[in-house]
Amino acid sequence: MKNTLYKPELLYSNGGFIANGGVLVSENGQILEAPRKIDPSSTKIVDLPGKALLPGFVNVHSHSFQRLIRGKSESRVISGKDFWSWRWTMYHAASQLEPQDVYDVARMVFFEMVLAGTTTVGEFHYLHNAPNGQPYDDPNLLSKQVIAAAQSVGIRIVLLRTAYLRSGYELPSDPGQIRFFESTSAFLENMSALVHNSSAPSSEVRFGVAPHSVRAVPLADLKKIAAWSREYKLPVHMHVAEQVAENTACLREYGATPVQLLSRERLLGPDFTAVHAIHISTDEIAMLAEANATICSCPTTERNLGDGIMAADHVMAAGISVAFGSDSQVQIDPLEDARELDYHLRLRQQERAILDQIAAQTLASRLFDCATVHGARALDLPSGGLTPGSFADFFTVDLNDVSIAGHSAEDLLPIIVFALNRSAIRDVVVNGRFILRDKKHALQEEIISRYQETHRKVWPNTRTGGPS
Ligand SMILES: [Zn+2]
Repeated sequence: MKNTLYKPELLYSNGGFIANGGVLVSENGQILEAPRKIDPSSTKIVDLPGKALLPGFVNVHSHSFQRLIRGKSESRVISGKDFWSWRWTMYHAASQLEPQDVYDVARMVFFEMVLAGTTTVGEFHYLHNAPNGQPYDDPNLLSKQVIAAAQSVGIRIVLLRTAYLRSGYELPSDPGQIRFFESTSAFLENMSALVHNSSAPSSEVRFGVAPHSVRAVPLADLKKIAAWSREYKLPVHMHVAEQVAENTACLREYGATPVQLLSRERLLGPDFTAVHAIHISTDEIAMLAEANATICSCPTTERNLGDGIMAADHVMAAGISVAFGSDSQVQIDPLEDARELDYHLRLRQQERAILDQIAAQTLASRLFDCATVHGARALDLPSGGLTPGSFADFFTVDLNDVSIAGHSAEDLLPIIVFALNRSAIRDVVVNGRFILRDKKHALQEEIISRYQETHRKVWPNTRTGGPS
């Protein structure tokens, strides 16, 4: 059994970089304590001159099929003016997809994530049924297609299988959502079958539970699902307070906002990730902090949808861990999400570097942690860093790339966080295996051409969705 020592020119370490460092990786893909002396007979050396090596990004919140609506919803005529009408376009794409298409779209998205330095994806998966709304013979068929896509690309996946039980409080059932609906009992049965019958290695494929939102999952069902998740010790992810209308409906139904309801019912905890958490009060921030929950922010999607701005300054000051997700895939670049978290606050407050020095941490280091270690925490994975015992998930950047060339060891991280162009990412390693080597993925031509075929099928002409 040979270990591998990766020797970059600069190695990420504690929010900065060191020269002459290395990462020692076991054959089963785990980072090992590097000994002072390397035995060449038992260690393969991989030299990475001109490159810096950093821990891979963890994308906590993805809906892979939504990649198909990129560029299709940037018109008021086609997709209306708000989040609720934007969903028409999304439902149109969702209604078209056969199992093979689900696989092909997911592969494209995961490949793009890898190009952006992402080594783990949390896929919030709610496309379950056949186009006619009936379950497939195997109700987990589409979950398995997404998992197979991740394995084909080589990215690590946490499949957050989603419970979607109704359109909303006092709302008639929306025909655009028939592929999402399951009963609570069917959801738990399917979830259980998926977790117990998975043949994939548990280091590469894991599971979590995702009640879609308080809009789509009534409280009584939410309690059952949360109890099941906790019995199996799986992370729980949920859309929370993305839209004001969601809070208003929750107030009408329960006399409480989503966070108040979740707190009151003791559904929050360290295993809970609130996705978005934009429209929340100071009291609600305190509730999430008290429960030690994570917030997953999706700034590139949130600004595209006009959702609002998450109060990251107050959230972080309260000690809440913030992670990132690419959500609708309007852009796939975790560093763009990182920048926007601070930039949106700058525009609102007309000040700079708002999130700097919270708990004495520098801004770049804090944002980088959100994209790595906080994401790993949300998905309950030993990754996000380069410490012994972690999964060997990392990427390299070309130090001569025009977007980051000219740096000192002290300012390289802020340069990367605020200016790295995705094209500077050269290699990506997941579980100790190169899945991108010098910007090349073994399957990239096939992945792209298959995706283009699916895209042509879903959008055969220029007309794009809308209410019917
Ligand atoms: Zn989402």
